[in-house]
Amino acid sequence: MSIKSFKKNFFSRKKISFIIRNLLLIFFAGLTIATLIDVLFSIWHSSKVATQAKKEQNHVLLQSQVNNTSQKQTVPYIFEEKIGHGFELKVHQADLALLQTINELTKYGIRLEHENIVTRYFYGTPFQFQTITVHLSVTYSSFFKKLQKNLKSLVANSRLIINTHNRWLIVIDGQTTHLLIIKPTTLLNSTNSTDTANLISTNATNATNNTVKTTPATTPKKGYLAIIIDDMGESLLFARHLAQLNFPVTFSVLPYSTRTRRVCDLAQNYQIELMLHLPMEPDGYPERANPGPGALFVHMNPARLKTIFLQDLQQVPGAVGINNHMGSRFTRNKKSMALIFNEIKKRGLFFVDSLTTPGSVGKILARQNNVPYLQRQIFLDNIQDEKAILFQLQKAESIALKKGMAIAIGHPYRQTLKALQDWQKIRNKSIQVVQVRRLLKIKNSKF
Ligand SMILES: [Zn+2]
Repeated sequence: MSIKSFKKNFFSRKKISFIIRNLLLIFFAGLTIATLIDVLFSIWHSSKVATQAKKEQNHVLLQSQVNNTSQKQTVPYIFEEKIGHGFELKVHQADLALLQTINELTKYGIRLEHENIVTRYFYGTPFQFQTITVHLSVTYSSFFKKLQKNLKSLVANSRLIINTHNRWLIVIDGQTTHLLIIKPTTLLNSTNSTDTANLISTNATNATNNTVKTTPATTPKKGYLAIIIDDMGESLLFARHLAQLNFPVTFSVLPYSTRTRRVCDLAQNYQIELMLHLPMEPDGYPERANPGPGALFVHMNPARLKTIFLQDLQQVPGAVGINNHMGSRFTRNKKSMALIFNEIKKRGLFFVDSLTTPGSVGKILARQNNVPYLQRQIFLDNIQDEKAILFQLQKAESIALKKGMAIAIGHPYRQTLKALQDWQKIRNKSIQVVQVRRLLKIKNSKF
């Protein structure tokens, strides 16, 4: 019994130790597996964290790139949609070729005079067809050769054609854009010229040295011109320089620029006419152009459009009118534009169509909604060259004389300011520079 019992105990001890051993084995194996799982989990987790960190880093990088871009974009002209692109720009480049030719022959004092200017269309794109008299004091052939060379280097697919010996044509893409009437003349002394307004000085200092002639009170005012400077709101100094010109300019201020509010305050102090420069969706957004903060997009629902518009308007206190910043896509959309025109009407504001697309529905909607409406005729500074801008100002004068009124739009470029400062000394005094509201009153009194 005792042996049996011993055996039994022995076996049972053996069994117990076997069980304990196995339990221990299981325990340690479990521990090892758990540790292993933990280690694997840690590896997975840290790799996940690393991926996340990398993602965040990329995001920060992307954000900083966006921020950098938007920092760059706070410089207004980088924001600006390439307006007057395509054919209109080619016509401006031909103007530049003409100016450059005169510049190269500067000692001969060649003078340009706009005889006529009419809006024509090339595949739906409006451009200004110009008839220009060239008072020539050099041989026809030397002027012809230089102009031909400059046209070739500046304007793709352009030609200079002699129609009759003193009537030359500039032809771009098969379309005549300029008629030049060549008149032989003796050497001119620009400071003695009585017609300084029509002189594009070949030397800027000549222009600035001209004596400013006071306009007699009896001089009849034949034309009215409004000058709007778009994309305002970044530089207070620039605004101050504009305020000091001896003719009024209208500020069109972007809603969320760095100094929007301060530029608005300055305008009110100087009694400068203020407009909201309303950012609208351009074609090719966002790759080609970005209208910046506060922009209206065609995909937005009516409530959203209204909210954004009212917030934008609040940013520019004292605005009496609106014009579009970019908007080649938005201004073609009748439904979205109708909603904005309804809001404009309710608030007694006017709308100036910057015409960034020939397909703008602004004119039709203004008529339907009875909103005071005007269109710009001239962009002053598609080419940021002082002489080219002066030439555009001269075109604007010609349109104002021909049609009775004109609107020119410029941007806060250094060259634009310089051109305006020079122009104030040489401009045609029979043209009155006025605020946009005055133009609208004149327009209404005519009809
Ligand atoms: Zn703009």
